[in-house]
Amino acid sequence: MESKVTAEQKPTGAPQAEAHYVLTPEKRAKAIAYSRAQYRLYFAAIALSLAIYAFFWRSGFAVVLREWAKRVSARRFAQCAFFVCLFLTAVRVLEFPLDYYWGFLLEHHYGLSTQGFGSWIADWAKDLGLTAVVGIILAWVFYWLVRRSPRRWWLYFWLASIPITLAFILVEPYVVEPLFYRFTPLEKTQPLLTGQIEKMLGHAGLSIPRSRIYEMDASAKTKVVNAYVSGWGSSKRLVVWDTTLAKLNSDQTLLVVGHEAGHYVLHHIPKEFALDEMVFLVLFYAGFVLIQRIVAASCRSGSFTVIPSPSPSFRAKRGISLWPFRVNSARNLALPSSRGVEESGAAKLLTPRPSTLDFSTGVADLASLPIVLLVLTVLVFFATPALDGISRYFEHQADQFGLEVAYGVVPDPNTADVQSFQIMAEEDLEDPDPSPFIRFWLYTHPSTDERIRFAATYKPWAEGKPLQLLPTAR
Ligand SMILES: [Zn+2]
Repeated sequence: MESKVTAEQKPTGAPQAEAHYVLTPEKRAKAIAYSRAQYRLYFAAIALSLAIYAFFWRSGFAVVLREWAKRVSARRFAQCAFFVCLFLTAVRVLEFPLDYYWGFLLEHHYGLSTQGFGSWIADWAKDLGLTAVVGIILAWVFYWLVRRSPRRWWLYFWLASIPITLAFILVEPYVVEPLFYRFTPLEKTQPLLTGQIEKMLGHAGLSIPRSRIYEMDASAKTKVVNAYVSGWGSSKRLVVWDTTLAKLNSDQTLLVVGHEAGHYVLHHIPKEFALDEMVFLVLFYAGFVLIQRIVAASCRSGSFTVIPSPSPSFRAKRGISLWPFRVNSARNLALPSSRGVEESGAAKLLTPRPSTLDFSTGVADLASLPIVLLVLTVLVFFATPALDGISRYFEHQADQFGLEVAYGVVPDPNTADVQSFQIMAEEDLEDPDPSPFIRFWLYTHPSTDERIRFAATYKPWAEGKPLQLLPTAR
């Protein structure tokens, strides 16, 4: 399909290709307020998760749940599934107010969402279901490995996480994405654009099968403008949101598709995954050390040190069980037993009660999950700048690829790219002035201003230099 690319089909957004992200004072204030709310919510969400895990650990909720799981089934997998399901549901329910404020109220307040409450709550429930399924698989593998290898589970779990994550990336476009959005092959909805994309890639000696390019009905839920690449191997695909197609003209859209095509043909998903895994190897080892220490400290002051039980009146006052010993722990890892069974005999007395936090099994106790998640959340939080730095590297490379692949097809790729960033950032209320700390900690992409400056100035063709990523596209 031969089609001349024209820039005149839709308004071009910014009147001139500014080398900066420019907003009216009113919109600038709105974008800054929205962005700052997002940053605050991000840190608040981490703090809330940590508080919930700490509460579920110290209050004994995890132990009660583990006991309940044991009564439900004698089979370890069923216990794990039951425990993880209820545990994650309880966590998510406590996180709900923040989720609702962040995901629903804030988006509506800033006019970004087109989604009704019923649809939003359905998405929330689907997300919880997915979290539970993934959580059960990971927790089952984790506890199985901890039981098999108490000293090396961090390494084996890291090794196991590689095929598990690759499997998730593989099935995500088939299983997860269609739960939330509808996908239509782009050639059905935008035959002209599909032809232009083919022509642009063909110009660089590349191709992405038509069957791998989709349009997503993002407008059913949001006004945000975007595109992405997902999947791996046979499920790899390029997805353009319908909001993007509505807001950008064909040249601008081609620059957006060029960026995503960069992720696709340069194999950014497996490359980024490989680098992230290096970070996770360090995290898992650090997690192992920390979790072992916390559990060992709990054991020293916990299950193995028994002191005479307090008087019945004391027990009655605190509402604890008839268990004649309580754990001597300043941190009070001992938990009120829910069982009213009195037993006697030295052997029984020295056997830690299943109704107490049973760290005699170490990390292998399901009730250690809040500690494991607490430590992991802290570690991932501190690794976020490294993971985001890796992402920014690939995003910048995709920006460069987009310009190179559009060169020779789009009449003025620099201007079209600047315009596409300007329009997308304006629609999405992107922060015009993020602090260096926020960029370092939270930005998975270079800031809009950085991207626009690069888009305006990267033109090796004007300087007689070869293209770096696509030397054959000249
Ligand atoms: Zn990207």
